[in-house]
Amino acid sequence: MKTIGLIGGMSWESTQDYYRIINNEVNKRLGGLHSAKSILYSVDFAEIEHLQRKGDWTKLTKMMIEAAQSLERAGAGMVVICTNTMHKMADEVQAAIGIPLINLADATGESVIAKYLNTVGLLGTKFTMEQDFYKGRLAQKYGLKVIVPDDKGRELVHKVIYEELCLGKIKDSSRAQFLEVIDNLIKSGAQGIVLGCTEIPMLVKQKDVPVPVFDTTAIHAKYAVDLALSK
Ligand code: GLU
Repeated sequence: MKTIGLIGGMSWESTQDYYRIINNEVNKRLGGLHSAKSILYSVDFAEIEHLQRKGDWTKLTKMMIEAAQSLERAGAGMVVICTNTMHKMADEVQAAIGIPLINLADATGESVIAKYLNTVGLLGTKFTMEQDFYKGRLAQKYGLKVIVPDDKGRELVHKVIYEELCLGKIKDSSRAQFLEVIDNLIKSGAQGIVLGCTEIPMLVKQKDVPVPVFDTTAIHAKYAVDLALSK
């Protein structure tokens, strides 16, 4: 079994889910007392969020590269960045290490096309919904049409991520607002909804939504296990 290197803490609320899913998945596949071999490099999210807000992506890229390199030195066989947003610098991180980085946009794109869908709605931080690193990759590599919420919807989703979900606050009122945003995406043609922020699956579940939902935390964690157990 290869050791899974996790860059977590962004936020730690969703990193707990990665850890649980990865261990459950290894146990489901290998049985007995088997669990995942993993190494967690967990950051202080306040520092990350501050730099994101300032737009200091150069510093953030340096921090992600340092984290990935220390995981590699510690013996990880792969790197998993446990957030969609911080895939903005995924290519730079991959170029700086000699082990594979499991790109979350790729894992998601493959899951969407496996369901034969071609138009998806994307929820995430404003960085993920508005910039091209994630949407663009889904469009160019997987031929997907990606729809995002309107200004008001993006504002709401972003605010709930940083002010509630990253602090472990799950509110029924926010779920209702997210479901309204999702309903509008479906009306605009989305055949599936990408929960493109690793905390959103804490709030919105498949049972809440009438079209297929793509839980990027679970998708990413399972891809890591596939690679960890591959020959
Ligand atoms: N975990 C979130 C994501 O998947 C947001 C936190 C962050 O900014 O990294 O995008």
